[in-house]
Amino acid sequence: MGMDIGGPGAGPALAERIVGELVEHAAQTKNFVRIDMEGSEYTEATIQMTERLHARFPGCVGTVLQAYLFRTADDVERLVSQGIRIRLCKGAYKEPAEIAFPAKSDVDENYVTLMKRVATSGVFCGLATHDEDIIEQMREFVAASGLPKGAFEFQMLYGIRRDLQRKLAAEGFGLRVYVPFGTEWYPYFMRRLAERPANVIFLAKNFFKS
Ligand SMILES: Cc1cc2nc3c(=O)[nH]c(=O)nc-3n(C[C@H](O)[C@H](O)[C@H](O)COP(=O)(O)OP(=O)(O)OC[C@H]3O[C@@H](n4cnc5c(N)ncnc54)[C@H](O)[C@@H]3O)c2cc1C
Repeated sequence: MGMDIGGPGAGPALAERIVGELVEHAAQTKNFVRIDMEGSEYTEATIQMTERLHARFPGCVGTVLQAYLFRTADDVERLVSQGIRIRLCKGAYKEPAEIAFPAKSDVDENYVTLMKRVATSGVFCGLATHDEDIIEQMREFVAASGLPKGAFEFQMLYGIRRDLQRKLAAEGFGLRVYVPFGTEWYPYFMRRLAERPANVIFLAKNFFKS
């Protein structure tokens, strides 16, 4: 969206102008824009942009927080206190150990803690994961706490764990599928794979599974 473009009036200001036009359009059509989260060098700028756009168009914009970052527990409180919708994911980038949990088990544990916090915050949230254990923990939490299923939705990537997607939808959970589309879908797809080479193996495994 232009955050990395240099020169006067470019960078974060340019990104905010472009994204602001999209959010304005969403507001006019009673829709919603989710701003993806990239690597940690963009976290603060993305959150600030979301906060300013939410102040202009309340409820029409939200962003993504990543459970692998140490700062995310504070960011959850920061955003829910303003009523800003969060998509919670584990995080897709390689981050240094000074700012992010290096061990997957710690990321998963933090995800579960934060997932319960955002789902009970009173602000509708998206739980973006294909992790069956975590989804099972959420199912159990809903059954035990009486949390309405409409307080949150699960979110998954198009084509991944379609069996699980169908099962959750049949059980009455909200399920949103993330679909890249348009003429530039191929470079987008390659970029996603390049961000995390493990995804190539995931993809191969799931090609046969789903
Ligand atoms: C809707 C959505 C939006 C996202 N937006 C962002 C974002 O803005 N910023 C960001 O940093 N990350 C984003 N992510 C990616 C996220 O951070 C994780 O990297 C990714 O979802 C894998 O984590 P997981 O929770 O599925 O658990 P994992 O433990 O990584 O995976 C659990 C299981 O799910 C399957 N799986 C997971 N991912 C894939 C895949 N790509 N291909 C094939 N199989 C897979 C595998 O079977 C795996 O064993 C998003 C993910 C989703 C679903």
